[in-house]
Amino acid sequence: MNRWAKRDFDAHRVNRKKDKIAILGGGMAGLTAAWRLSEPGWQNRFDSITVYQRGWRLGGKGASSRGENGRIEEHGLHVWIGSYENAFTLIRECYAELDRATTDPEAPIRTWDQAFTPANDVGATDRWDGEWRLWLGRFTGNDELPGEPDASPADMTAVRFVERALALIIDFSVSLRAMGDTGLALSTSAEHLTPQRSLDTVQRAVLAATAAMADPQPENATAVDALNHALDAIRGTLDYERRADHRLTWTLLSLITATVRGVMADRLMTDPRGFRAVNNEDYAMWVLRHGAHPDVLEFPVLRAMYNMVFGYEKGHLERPTVAAGVGMLLVGLMFFTYKGAIFWKMTAGMGDIVMAPIYEALHRRGVHFEFFHRVDSLHLDASHQHIDAVTMGRQAWLAEGVDHYDPLMRVHGLPVFPKRPLAEQIQPRADLDGLESHFGSRDDVETRVLRRGVDFDRVVLAVSLGMVEVVAQELIADRPEWREMTEHVRTIGTQGIQIWLRPDHSALGLAAPAITTSGYIPPIDTFSSMPQTLWAEDWPKHDDPQTVAYFCGALDVHWSPTIDQTAYVDRCHQIARTEAINFLDNLVGVHLPGAVTENGFAWHLLAGVNGHRGEAALATQHLSVNVDPSDRYVLSIPGTDEYRLRPDESGYENLVLAGDWTDSGLNSGCIESAVLSGLQAANMILGHGRFHRIRGLYLP
Ligand SMILES: Cc1cc2nc3c(=O)[nH]c(=O)nc-3n(C[C@H](O)[C@H](O)[C@H](O)COP(=O)(O)OP(=O)(O)OC[C@H]3O[C@@H](n4cnc5c(N)ncnc54)[C@H](O)[C@@H]3O)c2cc1C
Repeated sequence: MNRWAKRDFDAHRVNRKKDKIAILGGGMAGLTAAWRLSEPGWQNRFDSITVYQRGWRLGGKGASSRGENGRIEEHGLHVWIGSYENAFTLIRECYAELDRATTDPEAPIRTWDQAFTPANDVGATDRWDGEWRLWLGRFTGNDELPGEPDASPADMTAVRFVERALALIIDFSVSLRAMGDTGLALSTSAEHLTPQRSLDTVQRAVLAATAAMADPQPENATAVDALNHALDAIRGTLDYERRADHRLTWTLLSLITATVRGVMADRLMTDPRGFRAVNNEDYAMWVLRHGAHPDVLEFPVLRAMYNMVFGYEKGHLERPTVAAGVGMLLVGLMFFTYKGAIFWKMTAGMGDIVMAPIYEALHRRGVHFEFFHRVDSLHLDASHQHIDAVTMGRQAWLAEGVDHYDPLMRVHGLPVFPKRPLAEQIQPRADLDGLESHFGSRDDVETRVLRRGVDFDRVVLAVSLGMVEVVAQELIADRPEWREMTEHVRTIGTQGIQIWLRPDHSALGLAAPAITTSGYIPPIDTFSSMPQTLWAEDWPKHDDPQTVAYFCGALDVHWSPTIDQTAYVDRCHQIARTEAINFLDNLVGVHLPGAVTENGFAWHLLAGVNGHRGEAALATQHLSVNVDPSDRYVLSIPGTDEYRLRPDESGYENLVLAGDWTDSGLNSGCIESAVLSGLQAANMILGHGRFHRIRGLYLP
């Protein structure tokens, strides 16, 4: 019996009072922990479950709210991968329980499948002959659905990897057909390339690969030899030097083959650490070590994978890096185990579609939310075995007659988070905007100290990693593993740009109406067209956008508590503005060729721009500069994985950890990691094993 289970057993035996649970931080991980802890019957086990959240919104790095014209303003571009089994399970449970069709028929989104839409048009940008071009990959959907109740998890095995790798190549070949005479199908070779010819070439290559693998091999040949044989056969059929499409095909094969070879050579299938065994190496370096051609370093899908996890060592954009095991796990999950579609996009903001429904369902279950509570520090007891107290700044009093803050308002009937606190529910105070910022004013209405045995018994620490360094100083000083974790697991600033354009996707020249692409020139390397969200906004008829473009990337800025905070924030905003304008004026053409003029970006096409250009025009759109310690993205760089603490490894009896920074088995900054971590934190408190009711196979 583990120690929590024993504790529950003892509690039952002596009829001890029920525990109070304090969840510090209401991002995806904290909300997930609350979700699992508050499953029906929870009041028999716990006295109370309370989520403490600074400011007025839930969702953290996945928060969004509504600005002018009801427009959706995201913290950053978010898509869900079709293999986020645990996240989809949670959100499907949530919508089913909410039963909006009965309880809130006014809400235009009532079910999970109205909230998410499959998105199979995925692109990567590729440099060929000095020019950037877009490679549009149209992935084949399947008739599975993510998060299906009772579905068997899609574990990744070597056999599955190889099987799905071949299917990927077929998808790739189909994507070449979609390019027509533009994009990468253009060739520097003298002969004119028709789409059909490029398709034929790739299909021949795939056949060659399959035939080579099926060929009887010499007795002592291994599967690796068969792969090498296949690769050589393919290279022989291609015009590698002169044809972009051929080079892409072969580089993809080289990457996949080296990965499969590496899995075998490093015996990852039998190593008890699984993919984790190679987390001290960078993924690209690892595939090179296993025989990948050096050109794979420029392969758009590889660069896109790095971009997806903002993978830059110490934030330096010229040093891309991601731990090999994490990289492989992500590639495998993304390409080989997706359900329905490779990506699922939200049909409104992430705050609207994910955080608000979870809040509503939790509130209905009886979970308390204490908004306007900023955690300042955790304190240990004399034995250094428990969290004994938590100091918080209460940022605002509720208005007279208001017994709890209801954080949602409605746009088109949909419950959403507003951009500013709902002033009528709180007593007037200055600097409302600063309540969600570490750099905002600290004129709290009171200092509140939660005490063990009075206000809480167990704590879920669900603030982000950047904030752990701020609030957990006593723990960091007390235990070397906390010190090492905060020293080695690092974060990076990010930026998100959203622009609303009046022309539709075809006038702007988008490769596909709802395309998502990555792998472009850093820092703003990732793009997604999100027309499926526009219905939810509230623009005036004369200025109605038909297109909304989301861009995202890293922001190479370094924060420390000792620097001048105001100057730091100003500098970060200035850098982000300059990068955004440079990007729009000089680089956006690869995504939106129809928005480019001889003089740079066609600013007049923006909705709400009121005749402005440049910086003034940008100010009318949405720029999210994510440099608050809480907002910084958690990196998965080589050699850091071993320093992550598991949700059950806080070292203190009454503390569990939840967040994408913990060792959850996925160990990358994504929604699924946050959910995995939140579930594991709850499992510990509930006395279950770490992976109880967790779907899929993750790093042990
Ligand atoms: C720009 C960007 C784009 C991304 N895109 C994707 C994507 O497309 N797909 C994907 O899967 N993932 C994406 N991610 C990653 C994803 O958003 C995160 O992994 C996930 O949201 C992390 O959740 P969390 O609960 O661990 O942490 P957080 O979201 O950081 O939650 C921490 C919570 O604690 C609160 N908090 C912090 N400090 C305090 C304090 N002192 N007192 C009280 N409360 C506090 C915060 O306000 C927040 O609510 C992206 C991240 C970024 C930054």
